[in-house]
Amino acid sequence: MIKIINSEEFSYFLRVHRNEIIKRWMNKSEVQNVLHRHSLPAIEKNTHLFYEFCDCYISIIEWRSTISECQVKIDFLQLLNNYNVTTADLFTLITKLKNAIESVIFENGNLSYALQSEIDALTLEMANDLAVNFESIIGSNKNYKSENSNLLAEYKKAVDLSNIVSKTNPKGVITYVNDKFCEISGYTRDELVGKPHNIIRHPDMQRETFKNLWDTIKAKKSWNGIVTNMRKDGGQYIVDTTIIPILDVDGDVVEYIAIRHDITELEETKQQLKNINKAMKQKVDELYSMTNTLEQKAYRDNLTGINNRENFEDIFAIEIANAKQNNVPLSLIIFDVDNFKLVNDTYGHQAGDVILIDLVNLVASNIKNGDIFARWGGEEFVILTPSTEMNGARNLAENLRKIAQTHTFSYVDKNMTLSFGIAQMSIEDDKKTLFEKADAALYEAKKNGRNRVEMYNA
Ligand code: GH3
Ligand code: MG
Ligand code: MG
Repeated sequence: MIKIINSEEFSYFLRVHRNEIIKRWMNKSEVQNVLHRHSLPAIEKNTHLFYEFCDCYISIIEWRSTISECQVKIDFLQLLNNYNVTTADLFTLITKLKNAIESVIFENGNLSYALQSEIDALTLEMANDLAVNFESIIGSNKNYKSENSNLLAEYKKAVDLSNIVSKTNPKGVITYVNDKFCEISGYTRDELVGKPHNIIRHPDMQRETFKNLWDTIKAKKSWNGIVTNMRKDGGQYIVDTTIIPILDVDGDVVEYIAIRHDITELEETKQQLKNINKAMKQKVDELYSMTNTLEQKAYRDNLTGINNRENFEDIFAIEIANAKQNNVPLSLIIFDVDNFKLVNDTYGHQAGDVILIDLVNLVASNIKNGDIFARWGGEEFVILTPSTEMNGARNLAENLRKIAQTHTFSYVDKNMTLSFGIAQMSIEDDKKTLFEKADAALYEAKKNGRNRVEMYNA
């Protein structure tokens, strides 16, 4: 069993079951009866009109087109007229087509109340329009009023029983409300009839919605939408609403019929689901950022936020393998702050921390995107420069040395300097030996007076 709840499912279902619907329609005893009485079955060549009419009806109840756009209706009505079919028979054909669709649906699943009331409403509109057209084809309006409008009235009664129904005159003044309307709105019939329909308008409703509604129905088209109405006690209820202009034989609007179904509960459930969704999304975001923070903690140095030593060692191994495999150069720079102990001793450890952060920002903004910058430990840092030979690394180090030397760091009132050691990977190097080479060069730089760049020299 399937539950057809929204209009996409509905359209899909109708398309899949089209042939089945037509077969059932034509086989209904009442339809057979009409066809036999007027010798219509003899005209096999005209059955395509029945098919086309059925397609037209389907596209109307799924809101793909309107009755005024239905091209086939005049040919269809002409055909019926040629065989002296009466307006009463015409209503029978339409009602049975609706029944055929419903019976196919209910055998396979069920239909939401909102869709059911739409089918009711649109069928009513179609019946009204066809009757008007048919009468003008037949050319005798008098029979329509006396004999056949009873059938339309019967049909309206059936709709009335299962929906919230009201009627207004063309100016929007209420002329009729059914019991269900009174029940849901909290007004008595006397309080409603003769009043403008906007007596139940909810202040939260957008003006735009009502403008669109009136533009549509004044153009003699039916309108469908979700409307929030206000009860007499100030409470609200939400209805899926279809408003149909009912035309007379001259094509003028005589009244509007509004057919609604209460979807308050459905809408409230939807809102709750939306809230739950929102809350869940928030939780997921929180978890995501927590995971992010944890990851950051694992890979980043706590003080400066750059790569920590563990992470650097992983990257270092990969870069060495890459460089060897692709036969490209790789250089490593190690640098250490000169006389940093003194800074700590003079300005305090906390000032030292701030200076280290300052230094990291300074260096980070003066290296290339592909260079890997990490804190090795204490005030000792490394920069791995892929695809870079010793000379390139030296230029970078020289540049950084000068920048640091002239930079004004917080707290310290004299210049801070850095010493650099550089080594280029050779084919036999691994992490350990390449690091030792750069470290040896750094040692040389310190030994040779600090604030210098030294290159490893075997
Ligand atoms: P040089 O390197 O020029 O030989 O002299 P130095 O004074 O810098 O000597 P050394 O590298 O041996 O000392 C490093 C000092 O850096 C020791 C330690 O107190 C300080 N240090 C290491 N890590 C941190 C840190 O995270 N914050 C602060 N404020 N100080 C640190
Ligand atoms: Mg130092
Ligand atoms: Mg040191």
